Amino acid sequence: MLQSLRLKSGPPARVIFGHPWAFLGEIISNGPLPKSGECVELIDLKGKSLGSGLWSSKSQIAWRRYSHRLVSLDGPLLDELILASIRRRENKPVCRLIWSEADNLPGLVVDRYNDLLSVQALTFGIDQRLPQIIDCLKRELQPREIVIRNDASVRKLEGLDNSITTASGNPLEPCWMKIGDIEVRVDLMGGQKTGMYLDQIEQHARIAQLAKGRRVLDAFCNQGGFGLACAKAGALSVLGLDSSEEAIKAAQLAAERNKLNAKFEVANVFDWFGANREVTFDLIILDPPPFARSKESVDGAMRGYKELNLRALRLLSPKGILATYSCSHRISDEMYFEVVESAARDARRQAILLDRVSQPSDHPILLNFPESRYLKGFILEVRS
Ligand code: SAH
Repeated sequence: MLQSLRLKSGPPARVIFGHPWAFLGEIISNGPLPKSGECVELIDLKGKSLGSGLWSSKSQIAWRRYSHRLVSLDGPLLDELILASIRRRENKPVCRLIWSEADNLPGLVVDRYNDLLSVQALTFGIDQRLPQIIDCLKRELQPREIVIRNDASVRKLEGLDNSITTASGNPLEPCWMKIGDIEVRVDLMGGQKTGMYLDQIEQHARIAQLAKGRRVLDAFCNQGGFGLACAKAGALSVLGLDSSEEAIKAAQLAAERNKLNAKFEVANVFDWFGANREVTFDLIILDPPPFARSKESVDGAMRGYKELNLRALRLLSPKGILATYSCSHRISDEMYFEVVESAARDARRQAILLDRVSQPSDHPILLNFPESRYLKGFILEVRS
């Protein structure tokens, strides 16, 4: 039997309208509270069940739904949810296999890099169940190794320590593997996030189709995903910029290994734009980190995005292309479009929208969970 807790009366909580989280302040908490990691039923003010969720006693997000039914995660359900997520990805060799709430596994992220897996546990309940999760992944996928990247800062909010380990207990060296048609140096124990960024792989190929004969600037390039794909597709020149030395090193090694003509430099993109006002590019990619991580940072983020888009638009040749992305869920598609429009206005550039893009299907958007709808991009062609 699961312990049941009730919502408090007060302003209607988002969980009533389908959101998968309930905050501690929204729940009646005068009786004994569950322990972190326990499976708990939540009941609304009329006594109707809102489903079953994982309890977290340290975090403000006290309850995260994994099922609309009344069911423990510790029976067959955990394996069933893992297998359903894997099946949804239809055997893609490099992809996000499991994405947290969007796959009903709140706090579990699993990325697949061919025969390697990288796992992150971001909630107490998932961290506690990692042994069973790893067993299931091994049984289903027989990976060469599983890296457990428990170094995300949000773990602290759950009262969890940080570590980076492997399922075998042996360290995993960086290795080369094909992603798309490029050999990429994958460092699952050292790279950013779960090793790399997987959410823009489709965009790398999409933008590369526009790159032939163009001078390309890949700003916030990380390991050079866009730039390398553009070089492979016949770009005239490629310059990639990122503030991370490790990421730039990996990009440079990949350019050498794939015999591609692409230059990568360590730079703060804002400073670089400030110092380089006379250069011209025919294709600029802007793929910055999420500037708006909290509600309070939205205004500053909007100014940052505006600045970047303005600078980029000024450096584009006539008929030049801007591919501009934002991965802050707090900045909506419309807000970001307005930023880009006002940047074009200030730069006195006329541009048409060639395409508007979103996140790939292996990072599914969960309806009524705005936090899962984060990536947006606009591909523009400058007319004058
Ligand atoms: N374009 C990449 C993903 C970029 S993620 C891809 O397609 O895979 C954002 C990147 O911005 C990270 O690599 C981070 O190191 C870098 N970054 C963050 N702030 C920066 C800054 N001010 N200047 C340059 N790079 C920055």
